[in-house]
Amino acid sequence: MKKMVDVILPLPLPGCFTYWLPQPWEEMVCVGCRVVVPFGNSKHYVGIVKRIHHEEPTAYVVKPVEEVPDRQPVLLPLQLRFWDWLADYYLCTLGEVYKAALPSGLHGGDYHPKTETVVRLAPRANEEAWLHSCLDALKRAPKQAEALMYYLELSNRLSEQTDSRQEVTKQQLVGRSSAAAVQALINKGMLESAELTVGRLTNAWPTTLPLNPLNAPQEQAYQTVLQQLEQHPVCLLHGVTSSGKTEIYMHLIAQALGRGEQVLYLLPEIALTTQITDRLRRVFGRRLGIYHSKFSDAERVEIWQKQLSDQPYDLLLGVRSSIFLPFKKLGLVIVDEEHENTYKQQDPAPRYHARNAAIVLAAMYGAKTVLGTATPSIESWYNCMQKKYGLVELTERYKEIELPEIVSVDIRELHRKKRMKGPFSPLLLGYVREALEQHEQVILFQNRRGFAPMIECHTCGWVPRCRNCDVTLTFHKSVHQLTCHYCGYTYRLPECCPACGEVELRKQGFGTERIEDDIRQLFPQATVARMDLDTTRSRSSYERIIHDFTRGKTQILIGTQMISKGLDFDHVSVVGILHADTMMNYPDFRAYERAYQLMAQVAGRAGRKRKRGRVVLQTKNIDHPIIQQVIRNDYRGMVATQLTERRLFHYPPYFRLVYVYLKHRDETLLEQMAQQLADRLRIHFGTRILGPDKPPVARVQLLFIRKIMVKIELEASLAHARRLLLQVQHEMLSAEDRFKSLIVYYDVDPM
Ligand code: ADP
Ligand code: ZN
Ligand code: ZN
Repeated sequence: MKKMVDVILPLPLPGCFTYWLPQPWEEMVCVGCRVVVPFGNSKHYVGIVKRIHHEEPTAYVVKPVEEVPDRQPVLLPLQLRFWDWLADYYLCTLGEVYKAALPSGLHGGDYHPKTETVVRLAPRANEEAWLHSCLDALKRAPKQAEALMYYLELSNRLSEQTDSRQEVTKQQLVGRSSAAAVQALINKGMLESAELTVGRLTNAWPTTLPLNPLNAPQEQAYQTVLQQLEQHPVCLLHGVTSSGKTEIYMHLIAQALGRGEQVLYLLPEIALTTQITDRLRRVFGRRLGIYHSKFSDAERVEIWQKQLSDQPYDLLLGVRSSIFLPFKKLGLVIVDEEHENTYKQQDPAPRYHARNAAIVLAAMYGAKTVLGTATPSIESWYNCMQKKYGLVELTERYKEIELPEIVSVDIRELHRKKRMKGPFSPLLLGYVREALEQHEQVILFQNRRGFAPMIECHTCGWVPRCRNCDVTLTFHKSVHQLTCHYCGYTYRLPECCPACGEVELRKQGFGTERIEDDIRQLFPQATVARMDLDTTRSRSSYERIIHDFTRGKTQILIGTQMISKGLDFDHVSVVGILHADTMMNYPDFRAYERAYQLMAQVAGRAGRKRKRGRVVLQTKNIDHPIIQQVIRNDYRGMVATQLTERRLFHYPPYFRLVYVYLKHRDETLLEQMAQQLADRLRIHFGTRILGPDKPPVARVQLLFIRKIMVKIELEASLAHARRLLLQVQHEMLSAEDRFKSLIVYYDVDPM
């Protein structure tokens, strides 16, 4: 009897595909292995074996597996269970999960690990005397002596006496001396060179340091977290900014590692990994691995393979995609800044929430999850109130640092009196000037990138819009272009208004680029940097901006929400929130919650040892409850107001939401189809169906969009609802031929 395998293919098609397994591979292939299979007339894909059986399908001729690239599975059984859960919960296909989960290097045939040449001291180098004799011997070869000194400096030999055989990449060393000098040292047997696969580089972290001792409130919080985790699968650590949450995580990590377990540490943003990496590296050294999308594919494959090996990283730090890595003995998951909406993947499918998925993953392993933040998401807070999660609070900042003083400024009034200087109030400018005089640093927060959010014709009011999407274009001054922030399409700025010929096109509003321009003019002496999507396209640019600011090389940092995310700076005395209203006016039921979180987080960047930080909050809605709650640091007040509204209007956490999106090129047809789908859904779901509506951006990349909202009671079975949704979609798409080209997808628990 032939052996059959059901495989997952990296395609957005439902279900698995069955192939038969030719004799030579019958014993070798197991669940989780990769197999190369033919598909359609001429295509080949790398599939993942999900099931092995003997039930030969009779409806079609089964094709054979054509190749088996490796001897070991690339996926552990538990990961397949996790994939099933993701596809099921987030209403997508296993193929879509596959594409998101596996680094693309594992999708395509064979893979060659990237190697790099490293150099290190020859084995005898432990002997101090030998090293001196080397340096002596190089007296007449100053270039080589210099190269050796550089090596020692790079490998930290001079400060850390313990591990003298640290590797430094050859390229690094050659970059600071010369290829000839390095080669000469190798020839003389002072240095030796070796090839290492990239992911296994271990350079420059010779010794590990002990954990910082916790202070009394931290110790208490740490013990309480441990107690809570005995009773709950999840514990929320609600600690004000700079209270030492990260220190507590490190103690929790050390404890888990001590039990022989692995730890996954999730961060919402690559920008944060640099700072946290340094802190973790000092304590956990080589046990720490890092995984994120700015890594090359070869590096990601390398880490994946290492996690499958006998010597995996014990501690993995990563952004949301690291939940897909193989773990053999996961014991603890930490989700830092758990309230961040970047944990939710928007596009493409699977539209998963990494915090929620991580909690499910942890539960599958029997592991525990710690969520940490200064501004918990309302969902997590609610789960604590319901006693589903444990809750631990930390209300003091570490050492003498006080929480900042927040002052609100009524910019509507100041505009009326013509006292604003561009986007800046006199109060803010005064504070900035003072801070600069005292060599302190300033953060200016504006949640819009680009130069001007809008260009408008002075005469007829014409506004440029994207040809593909239903949005106005943003002006970027440095490249003198209009850009669509949805599809990325760029346009030339017209010389005059295409509607009426007027030459004066006014730039409306302020983006980060314009703020930077204005600040440079007002403070020509100050060093200024900007951190937003446009200035951080590469991994190194993030690191450079943060590094320069941490080191005090930059005095004023201007940025979007990117700067709010848990970065830790020591010398910031003033924070300016330039325009609170853009955040509050966003048409979404989470707008106020998010505005609160953003403002509280940005404000939390202010404050120095022995000096209270100052935050200037500029707004046109000075009396708005959210503004008041931010000023009073009244998280509970904010939650109470929001929960009342959410309950009244049937939103999370009281109801679950599923958005059904429909896309089509033909707007009239789309409208008909959306109506029909909503009507069909109403038969089953009744008033739980709202819409169809035009979303705020109703056309993206030439496709028109409609949205149907499904609100499901928390107590109702989501599984049942999901089955119904798919069933109705299927009925509808097969009802009429012209409906076939409709694109339908779901966003479960949308953010
Ligand atoms: P949070 O994660 O709550 O924002 P951090 O853990 O980043 O707070 O702590 C803020 C700052 O205080 C960091 O620079 C950290 O090194 C320092 N710090 C906090 N707790 C301790 C401790 N117990 N020992 C030494 N330094 C600490
Ligand atoms: Zn005009
Ligand atoms: Zn566009």
